[in-house]
Amino acid sequence: MADITLSSIGKTFAGTPAVQDISTRFEDGEFVALLGPSGCGKTTLLRLLAGFEMPSSGQIRIGARDIADGVTGTMVPPEDRNMGFVFQSYALWPHMSVRRNVSYPLEIRRFSKAEIAAQTDVALNATGLVEYADRMPSELSGGQRQRVALARCLVSDPDAVLLDEPLANLDVALRASMQAVFTDFHKRTGATMVYVTHDQSEAMAMADRIAVMDRGRIQQFDTPQNLYERPKNRFVAEFVGLGTVVPLRGVEKTDAAAHGHVLGKRIAVQSTHNSPSHVCLRPENLTISETGDLRAKVARVTYLGGKYLLESVSECGTRLLAETRAKFDVGTQLGLTITTPWAFHED
Ligand code: ATP
Repeated sequence: MADITLSSIGKTFAGTPAVQDISTRFEDGEFVALLGPSGCGKTTLLRLLAGFEMPSSGQIRIGARDIADGVTGTMVPPEDRNMGFVFQSYALWPHMSVRRNVSYPLEIRRFSKAEIAAQTDVALNATGLVEYADRMPSELSGGQRQRVALARCLVSDPDAVLLDEPLANLDVALRASMQAVFTDFHKRTGATMVYVTHDQSEAMAMADRIAVMDRGRIQQFDTPQNLYERPKNRFVAEFVGLGTVVPLRGVEKTDAAAHGHVLGKRIAVQSTHNSPSHVCLRPENLTISETGDLRAKVARVTYLGGKYLLESVSECGTRLLAETRAKFDVGTQLGLTITTPWAFHED
């Protein structure tokens, strides 16, 4: 089993916390993304899992095995954790051919020549690298180099693969096709994958669950759909997708429904909290109609391909985002209706 359990993990650099009191579990075979703004602690958390950093507090376990303990000082070195690593910088051996880069982990483990050849062929095939097997890394494109790094992971048959912004150096089109390569790799190996990124569309496209981080803490660890539709707090509501957070007043909640005032209008809201205090307005929650009684003025129009994003400002000065198929001009007065937004509680 390669489930990874973190118990009260903290990491401090010169008195400043980079990761704070994280307790969570990544399930065996799960594709987890660590997502958050620059400096939120994603890479530090990944390095703690890899064994490149010692936790200042807390424990990390893989299955039943303790691999790091900030109290007892237990620290299993990276090479004994049976984890594969894929970095933004590829980290290939420049003087070895593609084939040798891929087979090297098996050579170190003293597999027989026949086994090495067979397993290397399987990995080269799986990553579409057969025709590049005899090239040197310097003769490859960025996407091909990243596939060599993946093939090298594949031969090692790791329990978990840790990936640190592996697509950050690639152009947009290649990033999209490489996402399919990672997803395919995940299906093939069944390995637990932990993927650091600050690109939410990348995280949403690939991960089973995303841990959204801010200031060293996990703010919400959930499926992409729940993060978007049911954000737990203001940070997640504003960081994931396009969201405007506005106060919710005069809440009346029964088992079946909740209602309250949003921007002066009485509407139905969705919430699991007993006393929600704010709503997250996504573009889907705003409908433009003649009868809409929330008045707003279009401030900016962005073409999204097949539809437009309208940024409008309500009479009380709140910025609202809506999507339409029809084109509106800047300055147009709109009527908007709010439809059952998600509501959460803020202290
Ligand atoms: P980015 O997306 O910019 O890579 P990140 O979310 O991966 O950011 P980390 O690299 O984990 O963030 O850094 C978290 C915090 O810890 C930052 O404030 C950073 O300056 C600090 N930090 C990270 N490594 C060290 C170190 N070796 N020494 C001192 N401070 C560090």
